Amino acid sequence: MEEKNNLREKLFYEQKNGYDLIDTKERLAVEEYSRSYMEFLNNSRTEREAVANAITEAESLGFVEYVPGMELKPGMKIYKNNRGKALMLAVIGKKSLKEGAVIAGAHVDAPRIDLKQITMYESDEMCYFKTHYYGGIKKYQWVTIPLELHGVVALKNGETVNVSIGREPGEPKFVITDLLPHLAADQMKKTMAEGITGEGLNILIGSTPYADEGKDRVKLAVMSILNDMYGITEEDFLSAELTAVPGFDVCEIGLDRSLIGGYGHDDRVCAYAELKAIFDTENPEKTCVCILADKEEIGSMGVSGMQSTAFECFMEDLCETQGVALRRCFENSFCLSADVCNAYDPLYPEVSEKRSESKVNYGMGICKFTGARGKSGTSDASAEIVAYLRRLFEANGVVWQMAELGKVDQGGGGTIAQYMANRNIDTIDAGVPVLSMHAPFEVVSKFDCYMTYKGVLAAYQDK
Ligand code: MN
Ligand code: MN
Repeated sequence: MEEKNNLREKLFYEQKNGYDLIDTKERLAVEEYSRSYMEFLNNSRTEREAVANAITEAESLGFVEYVPGMELKPGMKIYKNNRGKALMLAVIGKKSLKEGAVIAGAHVDAPRIDLKQITMYESDEMCYFKTHYYGGIKKYQWVTIPLELHGVVALKNGETVNVSIGREPGEPKFVITDLLPHLAADQMKKTMAEGITGEGLNILIGSTPYADEGKDRVKLAVMSILNDMYGITEEDFLSAELTAVPGFDVCEIGLDRSLIGGYGHDDRVCAYAELKAIFDTENPEKTCVCILADKEEIGSMGVSGMQSTAFECFMEDLCETQGVALRRCFENSFCLSADVCNAYDPLYPEVSEKRSESKVNYGMGICKFTGARGKSGTSDASAEIVAYLRRLFEANGVVWQMAELGKVDQGGGGTIAQYMANRNIDTIDAGVPVLSMHAPFEVVSKFDCYMTYKGVLAAYQDK
């Protein structure tokens, strides 16, 4: 009997709940890590805020802004700020960049409700912002929740005004209203995709009229408040990037406090894991690079997205200081495309093939491929790269699991992995499993957050 069981153990692959694999000391490390992540997430509501907070912490730890022509020595810590919306950090390795870099890339943008450029209007003595949503959202989830306003207004004179309303205690918030059930008979017959429309996502921002006799008195009153606060006029919205994001605080979920609820886990949870990992990396063998990318949720386009050559520009600068060709560096580099994956949800088993979906508390999720249908639109990492991670993670006590995005033909998705792989860099997707991905309030497990940090750290510190 015992021999039979041994054979099973020897030959079968069996996954274990992560809490059965760690000791008390590591449990404390999970808690400590989660506390600092929760603070970061709470204060990083937009890609710009995430980048600014990352730079503040990086500078306090000795990272300096990279200036072209700067002499780079092993152990040096540098960063390059890409227009305030994306960030690249590096710790220079002992080995030449000819031998490649270890790269981790995550995105810091998240689904949200952007204001239109011509945004403010009054209707029946109520004042609203017109919006254009950003990223893949289920629109019905964004009504009747508190919203905050974040972003920048770029003025004609060249100055930029930072806007943040609703994050600090005591500040007002905003909301998109919904129909009462009593009058929603027609609405309730619509599909969930049609029940709330894109043009229906109008944010309520005021109701008191200005004390005069002219038209749009409520709009005038609201505009004058904004003018008092930020010195802006309605025309300044033309050159603004303002966005409404969920106004919930990040908090622990569950009586056992094992989960974290909050807005923007996708993908600030992996961005933070990478950041912490590069902060904890001293004198690495190979140069370590940490990317916080923008625009992943809309296809990684634009100057701050991962398809931008801003990345080549930075890496080429580093290579030039060592007389190395960028293409040599890329072909020998390794990249963890750190992005969240779908966590198997027992409430919706019908969309998943349970054996292959990542599970909460089973550790960092590795996606060999993402994509849709017949693996369309993915880089599909090689078996050799997966074998390397098996080796690396086992040697470093990283609890991890394979992950796939739902049943075959159920849907699909992509990450920045394909854009890194297209550069001739061996790349694989790895990240934290998420419940309710892209909802205003997403859920992750503390254990999986910590293991993702540990996984990136292991890659950075590999010999
Ligand atoms: Mn993502
Ligand atoms: Mn996403």
